[in-house]
Amino acid sequence: MSDVYTLNDLYNALKPLKDDPGNTGMFSDLDGTLSKIARTPANATITLGMRGVLRRLAEKYGIVGIISGRDSSEAKKIVDIDNIAYIGNHGLEWIENGKQFYAPEAFNFFGLTASLETDLSGSFKGTDILVEKKKLGVALHYRSVKDKEGARGLIEKIIKPLIAEYPLRRLDGRYVIELKPDLPINKGDAITVITVSRGIDNVVYLGDDITDIDAFGALRTLQNEGKLRAISVGVASDESPPQVEEEADYVVKGVDEVEALLSWMVE
Ligand SMILES: [Mg+2]
Repeated sequence: MSDVYTLNDLYNALKPLKDDPGNTGMFSDLDGTLSKIARTPANATITLGMRGVLRRLAEKYGIVGIISGRDSSEAKKIVDIDNIAYIGNHGLEWIENGKQFYAPEAFNFFGLTASLETDLSGSFKGTDILVEKKKLGVALHYRSVKDKEGARGLIEKIIKPLIAEYPLRRLDGRYVIELKPDLPINKGDAITVITVSRGIDNVVYLGDDITDIDAFGALRTLQNEGKLRAISVGVASDESPPQVEEEADYVVKGVDEVEALLSWMVE
């Protein structure tokens, strides 16, 4: 959003939603939004303060969902609250009421994921590039590699023939390149399905990365169609891509401002 606005404008825009929590869905990305980016993905945590806020949020609002590139079970392990929906792998699978669901198209990719992990673990052996097997796809993390450009180049070289041969696509994040099933499902599709099926009137979405822009866009479309009222909040940091600030309705700075905002939403 190019208009000039203040944090105060954001709080004013959220006030009607805060006053109508039963008809409001609160959705958020996890890494870089609710949890500070850790050196390796396994070290990600949320603070006790943030967990307390999320718990109260889940009690108060119509639905609270975490939408992550991680496996939904990983996101659930980190956040550790039961009555939240965990949407993982950018919408290809999710946990709701303790039950695991998959988009039907995802089933074809379990075997390919397993063999990719074996192949890529071999390819990157002896490097500091971390190969993370996910339920659907593989993530290659190079945050802890000193020569980040070099690591990136090596990853690109190795995955190029895989993308040519298999129904996979590449997804870039903050010091991570993922190989995902080449399916037309993203965070925007996930949030569309949930909000429309639940008949929610208002939606707040917070995110800090390129994949969150799909959700911003999908919510804007739903709003333009008159289906709901949406407020997208970009979370800016030194690392977040500039498009996040451009595409969001409002911007906050970092995980701390997210916690302050969510705390206010449960006051
Ligand atoms: Mg993120």
